[in-house]
Amino acid sequence: MSTHTEPMRSPALDALIQDAGGAALPDHTPDEPHFAELMAECAALLDGISFVRTSDKLVALASWTASGPKITYDPAFSPEDPNTEDAPFRTACILHEIMHVSVDNLYEPHPDPAERKHWRSFNFHYTSSAGKDFEKQCGTASANLTKIQDCAEADPTLDPALRAHINGRIEYGLSSSHTHYDTILLDLLVYLRIKGHTSKNTFFAYLTKLSQQARTHRLDPQRGPVPVAPKT
Ligand SMILES: [Zn+2]
Repeated sequence: MSTHTEPMRSPALDALIQDAGGAALPDHTPDEPHFAELMAECAALLDGISFVRTSDKLVALASWTASGPKITYDPAFSPEDPNTEDAPFRTACILHEIMHVSVDNLYEPHPDPAERKHWRSFNFHYTSSAGKDFEKQCGTASANLTKIQDCAEADPTLDPALRAHINGRIEYGLSSSHTHYDTILLDLLVYLRIKGHTSKNTFFAYLTKLSQQARTHRLDPQRGPVPVAPKT
């Protein structure tokens, strides 16, 4: 019997990341249980997704076919951005796309099947009731992303390149916060974790808190609106 209590890493997820030209995930540590549960959430979906390696110059992209979700990835992709390292970014992006699938599975979809395709991968439960409509929930997600940006500005352990990378991801999220909240939280956590950040770092700890909140929301059968991020 093993006395080993650290969560298991997924060999299938490790192999996918390697094939996608990504940097290896660090070993799980008991100090980062949320990171481990996120990786387990992604790993559990692998069998239900068709993965296709391409050379289309798109780092990774999720789409939905008649037979289910599909994710393409280009292991040679480079953002050619001095502030973003290629290999950690490829890992962050393939996991970001898997999170699009998880979000699509877990949040309550639009009740009308004809409308549903327009609600792919939304980061909140569909409802038209007051306080939970599209505008309100997008507004909360955007406000939360802005709080994350403010927290990054205030964390002295982030170097200028990392801060620029974070700002780029936040701007991307703000441009489409209906589908880029849970996903952006995840890709930033992955990128920073590979770069050696942990919950001992202020920014990583704040991201972890918001990502935990988002995960509780997507798993929550009560289907409340997007939770407001706490102050940093
Ligand atoms: Zn995305």
